[in-house]
Amino acid sequence: MATPQTQQNDKDIVYELGNLTLMSDALETKTGQDGLNRALQIVSVLQTTLDCDALIEIFSQEISSMIPHQSVLYEHQTPYFRIENGAHAKHSCSYQLSAAGQSLGQMTITRKKKFSVQETILFEHLLCSLVYPLRNALLYKGALTAALQDPLTGANNRAAMNTTMVREIELSRRHNTPLSLIALDIDLFKQINDQYGHTAGDYVLKAVVGSISECIRSSDMLFRYGGEEFTILLSNTDKNGAMLLAERIRRSIYTSSYRYGDELIPTSASMGVACITAEDNAKTIFERADMAMYEAKKSGRNNVKFAGTD
Ligand code: GH3
Ligand code: MG
Ligand code: MG
Repeated sequence: MATPQTQQNDKDIVYELGNLTLMSDALETKTGQDGLNRALQIVSVLQTTLDCDALIEIFSQEISSMIPHQSVLYEHQTPYFRIENGAHAKHSCSYQLSAAGQSLGQMTITRKKKFSVQETILFEHLLCSLVYPLRNALLYKGALTAALQDPLTGANNRAAMNTTMVREIELSRRHNTPLSLIALDIDLFKQINDQYGHTAGDYVLKAVVGSISECIRSSDMLFRYGGEEFTILLSNTDKNGAMLLAERIRRSIYTSSYRYGDELIPTSASMGVACITAEDNAKTIFERADMAMYEAKKSGRNNVKFAGTD
């Protein structure tokens, strides 16, 4: 028997290729009944995880005996991410999912053989089991992201920096690959606040993050660890690569015209670069980059210094 909540789920599912029967109609068909019974069984399995990847994989496994398929693809639009298991095949069956007006992304299964109409109906009903566990998993993913992100600039925050640095140092040791860290501090930022106002200062922080983001690769990680203080962690990057990048960032910030209202706000930053050594841990490599950054401040600001003698 369908509960009111399950019926609500079903109404919220929009079939991409046309309208299908609602759940109450589905009860009148054997396929619909089988699908609903199976969906109720699957719900309890899906409720065992809040991880989106695990959820999609479990769902795919749970429905495979009723609807054999070769791959499953889940796509979420904002923020965009996709989860794909298996090799994409020619024929696909796709649904947009939503709950209470909120888009929950698109689920697609594919295989070599065409899907029958009965199978698409069955898929629709099995998707009922996914809607609420998926909504919970998306909420959890959002909360995790928020906990690791600086709300003003969108850069990763200090908590993210601490865990990422430990992980990346371990990876660099295991694979014997270089790892570099840039510490960046905006020059005379207090003056910017004093002269143009705190809101203009906030704008400059966001604009600097924009400039840095344009210079770095997707594998480089940017963190805001203090007010106007940032680090950029560069995996698989040696001294030469890190110094070149730091210089590119310095030039980009210095030559950018950050316009706030009618004002052009001249901005520069000082940077220190450190490369991982056998003795380093997350704390010491950060301290060395930070000390090099203070050397850059002492020698006139708007420049880059390397931590070390070589
Ligand atoms: P230096 O070149 O030596 O780094 O000088 P500075 O003025 O940048 O350094 P200082 O540490 O004296 O000032 C940092 C300023 O950053 C002070 C603080 O009010 C400001 N600040 C910190 N966080 C924020 C923020 O989120 N928004 C704005 N607008 N200002 C911030
Ligand atoms: Mg500072
Ligand atoms: Mg500063």
